[in-house]
Amino acid sequence: MSDRIGARLAGERRADRPGPLSNMVYFDVDRPIDQPEAEAMTRHCCDQMTDQVNWQCDQHDEPFSCPDALVYFAAKYQEYGLIIHDGGASVIGIEFCPWCGGRLPESQRDRWFQELESRGIDPWEDEVPAEFEDERWLAL
Ligand SMILES: [Zn+2]
Ligand SMILES: [Zn+2]
Repeated sequence: MSDRIGARLAGERRADRPGPLSNMVYFDVDRPIDQPEAEAMTRHCCDQMTDQVNWQCDQHDEPFSCPDALVYFAAKYQEYGLIIHDGGASVIGIEFCPWCGGRLPESQRDRWFQELESRGIDPWEDEVPAEFEDERWLAL
C-alpha cells in the first residue's frame, strides 16, 4: 500500500467518527433523551442556560417535540446545541452562550472516544459503561 493510499484510509477512518461541534456543523443526536436532564450535574455558564438545559414541559416528553425547548446539552460530550424543530432530532452546535455570551466548555467528544478506546471498548460495537453515558466519566 502506498503512503498516499495509507493517508487516505487514515483520513477516512477519522471521518467515520463524529468530530467536535462547530457552529457550522449539524449533527443528529445519538438517541432520544430518556432521562430528565435535571439529573445532570454539569454547572452551566448562567442561570438562563441552566434553565434552558433543564427545560421540562408537561405537554412534551422530549425536547425535540417541544417548540419551547431551545437548547440540547449532550452531557457525555459536554456539547451544547440549538434544537432544530424540523420534526427530526437535529441540533446545531454552538460555542458561545446566546444569553450571557460566555464561551462554552470545549467539546469532550474526542476524549470520550479516546477514553473508551484506551479501555478496549468500541462504542459502536460494545456496551458503553453507564458512567460514559453522561458527564460522570469526566470525573474518573
Ligand atoms: Zn412543550
Ligand atoms: Zn450563559
